[in-house]
Amino acid sequence: MRSSEEYLASLRDGRRVYYRGRRVEDVTTHPHLRKGAGVCALDFQLAHERADDPTFVVQDPQTGRRYSRYFHVPRGPDDLLRRRDLIETVTREARSFVPLIKEIGTDALFALQIVCARMDRELGTSFLPRVRAFYERCRDGDLAMAVAQTDVKGDRGRRPSEQPHPDLYVRCVRETSDGIVVRGAKAHTTNAVYSNEILVLPTRAMTERDAAYAVAFAVPADTPGLSFVASPRGFGATSPFDNPLSSRYGITESLTVFDDVFVPWERVFLCGQWAYAGPLAKTFVEFHRFTAISYKTPLLELLVGSAAWMAEAQGIAAAGHVRDKLARLVMYAETVRGLTTAAAVEGRTVEGIFVPHVVLTNAAKYYFARGYHDAVRDVQDIAGGLVVTGPAEEDRNNPEVWGLIEPYLQGRAGTSGEARLRMMNLIRDLAASDLGGYLEVLAIHAEGSLEAQKLTVLMDYDLERVQRLAARAGGLEA
Ligand SMILES: Cc1cc2nc3c(=O)[nH]c(=O)nc-3n(C[C@H](O)[C@H](O)[C@H](O)COP(=O)(O)OP(=O)(O)OC[C@H]3O[C@@H](n4cnc5c(N)ncnc54)[C@H](O)[C@@H]3O)c2cc1C
Repeated sequence: MRSSEEYLASLRDGRRVYYRGRRVEDVTTHPHLRKGAGVCALDFQLAHERADDPTFVVQDPQTGRRYSRYFHVPRGPDDLLRRRDLIETVTREARSFVPLIKEIGTDALFALQIVCARMDRELGTSFLPRVRAFYERCRDGDLAMAVAQTDVKGDRGRRPSEQPHPDLYVRCVRETSDGIVVRGAKAHTTNAVYSNEILVLPTRAMTERDAAYAVAFAVPADTPGLSFVASPRGFGATSPFDNPLSSRYGITESLTVFDDVFVPWERVFLCGQWAYAGPLAKTFVEFHRFTAISYKTPLLELLVGSAAWMAEAQGIAAAGHVRDKLARLVMYAETVRGLTTAAAVEGRTVEGIFVPHVVLTNAAKYYFARGYHDAVRDVQDIAGGLVVTGPAEEDRNNPEVWGLIEPYLQGRAGTSGEARLRMMNLIRDLAASDLGGYLEVLAIHAEGSLEAQKLTVLMDYDLERVQRLAARAGGLEA
């Protein structure tokens, strides 16, 4: 397994990254991008520090080889629960920032193994051995992976082949004896700029006319023709006092552009088999939304914890409306976590791989996303206006100014002005800052928007069964 230093060194490979209009030579030292690199490196550091903890490291009983738990193919509920614990622990260590450089990649690798097994059996293709070889390469090399699934999509009401421009979904433009050439762009790719491998999956079901768009493949991040335009949103802050989270930690999404990128056949996992694009997209999100709900808890704990701290510090903890809000926040956080546990326990085995319960996973993701803004409102309400009107780090550092204002910032006896202001700053960073806005949009859209979860739930839930039960109860059946 790689050390954090080895991992960071692997990102200095000449990859083509742009940030605010300029080419970035090294994402690990760039003043803005290095924050996200640090969160990803922490994942490697923790695996080394906790090498004897089975939540972090798995030992293959046959070969004796040790590898990161992220790569462990789930075979039952315990594996999914361990995976949840790993994601949760690392995210908590990074103060609610999830690295997402092995989580999403392994979600994709599990889904590819399931769908390619079926495809090879039904079509006589031989994709599964390629997927397995690639999976072993990533596992044994302890590689960082991003998944580029979301296409830019143009007109959302039209299929890929009906778009006003032919490249609004990533497509295969040419096949050669050695591989394929792909063109297009994928949107919002999380931490691709910190990854070694970029896995590409279709974003939706396709028809025969969309066959060129039914592609799945993997390319190294420094592949010729591949560019990343990194987003500056959410993490512009520089003061650890004013922005205790967004000044230190980061996540970076990119528009990932494939400008006639060559992919050798051994890295192509779907090419033209249009009927399998939908199942692949869906199977991926069955794992991916489980990852999503696994990393939400540490963020929700910070919202509940900061609100409870502020209620105590400001002498309002016993007030009925505050207890009502705190109880709602606790139930919100624990329901998301409880549904995550239930989704792991009640999963099912498909092609030998244990898949999280689809309805419970989507219900958890929906419940989280639907409730997030309400939770933020309750935290803002309990904290008060100082969240956005407080003084700056420079005021804190000037004894003259600080001496003048500190007494007026204190809370109830025992809560200094400094402590209260620090907690206000945490709340602002979480709920009323550039990062706060980013987190609200992330809650809604990342891992699929609200409607995607409803669609999946209705697709997977056995409505006929409950209709039969209702018919029996209503005396409609003999
Ligand atoms: C922070 C963040 C991180 C992300 N990370 C990744 C990543 O690592 N990899 C990746 O591949 N993707 C990633 N995503 C993408 C995410 O999955 C998408 O944002 C999400 O699926 C919504 O797609 P969109 O942004 O194109 O919005 P849209 O799909 O345009 O959604 C906007 C609205 O249009 C509606 N809509 C869309 N199509 C239709 C339709 N046909 N009919 C009716 N209504 C429709 C939606 O329901 C929604 O209300 C990330 C997104 C965010 C915000």
